[in-house]
Amino acid sequence: MKYYSTSDPSRRASLEEVLLKSIDANDGLYMPEIIPVLPDTFFYEMEHLSPAEIAFRVTKPVFGDDIPEDVIKSIADKALSFEIPVVELSDRLYVLELFHGPTFAFKDVGARFLAGLLSWFAGRTGREITVLAATSGDTGGAVANAFSEKEGIRVVVLYPSGRISPVQEKQITRAGRNITAVKLQGDFDDCQRLVKMAFSDADLKKKIVLTSANSINFGRLFPQSVYYFQAVSKIKKDSDRIAVSVPSGNFGNLTSGIIAARMGLKISKFIASTNINNSVPIYLKTGIYTPHPSFKTISSAMDVGAPGNFKRVLHLFGDNHKAIKNTISGYWFTDDETLAGMRELYESYGYLADPHTAVAYLGLKKYMDSNICTGIFLATAHPGKFADETFRATGTVPDLPAFQPAGDSVRVASPNDYSFVRKIIEKSF
Ligand SMILES: *Cc1c(COP(=O)(O)O)cnc(C)c1O
Repeated sequence: MKYYSTSDPSRRASLEEVLLKSIDANDGLYMPEIIPVLPDTFFYEMEHLSPAEIAFRVTKPVFGDDIPEDVIKSIADKALSFEIPVVELSDRLYVLELFHGPTFAFKDVGARFLAGLLSWFAGRTGREITVLAATSGDTGGAVANAFSEKEGIRVVVLYPSGRISPVQEKQITRAGRNITAVKLQGDFDDCQRLVKMAFSDADLKKKIVLTSANSINFGRLFPQSVYYFQAVSKIKKDSDRIAVSVPSGNFGNLTSGIIAARMGLKISKFIASTNINNSVPIYLKTGIYTPHPSFKTISSAMDVGAPGNFKRVLHLFGDNHKAIKNTISGYWFTDDETLAGMRELYESYGYLADPHTAVAYLGLKKYMDSNICTGIFLATAHPGKFADETFRATGTVPDLPAFQPAGDSVRVASPNDYSFVRKIIEKSF
């Protein structure tokens, strides 16, 4: 399997290059040349398969030319070692709970799979790999946890000071010796910008192998397709039109869903549900895409004004606004609406949802108001991770399973300045 870049579709890259570079020149993002359609037999069998087995069957046709089958199997087994339940709230309404991994957020799935892939390549090439990630909250914890104490890999995580929750901060700063947490005086877009600067720093990249664990890395993005199969396999068989609502920030999760559909999974509609960082819902409505600086909200992991993966979505639909609208609907919600959604979920179904999940619920509900279908919304974080908001909305304090720190709290405070951050990236080696 070869990969092309969205900035130069005529050039081809290998999987190793895709995983170790993560981003091509001119901000190009990698996509596989072919998205394989899975055989009918898989779709008949999938309801009886575990998430790990589904992960193996879905990723093998893409990674199988480059990685031995038994290695893919073992990576899938380790990455998907937790439950991904589908909870029925009412007759045609389901929630897919993606938060049962070690850091209680959906990003565990992709981060753990990527950690497996990169360790294998580090071992094979004998070169140490530096993983650099910007986080608006959950990426950092998931990545730090997934790579903790992994041989041959160091991780540097940039997070915006004062904009992530205490639990998230603990998950990033206490993850282990090979993880350097950088508390940046700036917002998520600043973190992302500095990470981008490091990736285009040719001199730095001569010195170290530098890659990303954000969803711009195909090795993290693609394995997320797996749980869409898991979701559809677990709902009632007579469900014909299926809509899936994805609480979206950087649009990695939604892109993985579209890839799953291209592999043959029957999902007729995706709902892009966002907070007031609404550049994609506005694009869907008007055809005009205007990225903007990010606004702060209670669904902080979705505070992304310029979603990195949106160009992958555009590419998958040949930049055709009408085609995109046929497959994706978009809605956005304020914090007050989000809190009301959390309250409604609790009062109507006894279901505690975190703010991100509530945004997905609201988007789905809005879509289902005027469309007959079976709806699934994705629960991307455990409500206990956002205990203050959950309490504010419902009067209930959710419990959060204890997080097991791997080490003492270690972090480096950094000004919003590339030369400083660059020193940390180098010194961390
Ligand atoms: C990262 C995150 C999102 C947004 O996912 P994207 O792939 O960036 O669109 C939604 N909810 C939670 C809890 C997250 O951590």
